[in-house]
Amino acid sequence: MKYEFEVPTTGHECLVNITAQVSKFVTLSKIKEGLCCVFVPHTTAAVAINENADPTVQSDILRELDKVVPWEDGYDHVEGNAAAHIKVSMVGASQVALVSGGRLQLGTWQGIYLAEFDGPRTRKVWVKIIEG
Ligand code: ZN
Repeated sequence: MKYEFEVPTTGHECLVNITAQVSKFVTLSKIKEGLCCVFVPHTTAAVAINENADPTVQSDILRELDKVVPWEDGYDHVEGNAAAHIKVSMVGASQVALVSGGRLQLGTWQGIYLAEFDGPRTRKVWVKIIEG
């Protein structure tokens, strides 16, 4: 079974913590041991797992990605959002976490984030939990 939810992003670039929503679907699935895949069906939004304690980690990530891939850099892509596409290729459209004891297994300081690189928009997140 595939679960889906929507995330309205509020900035041009931002990281939105979606750990609680993903955890809810792990509980609903009633799967005790397995894998949880979180996937976004977008070309300018990604999924990341990173620190959930200090919000400056998120702003540091976005700022440093912007240094590597600036919004304007003579790209050929006519839509004007080539930087967002490149950042998604770097971060990835999915992440996998373990499920054990019926719960998402993340490190104490880890959270799952939707990474918006060309917002604000409403993004879809797909979650699949596989028993095993
Ligand atoms: Zn584009």
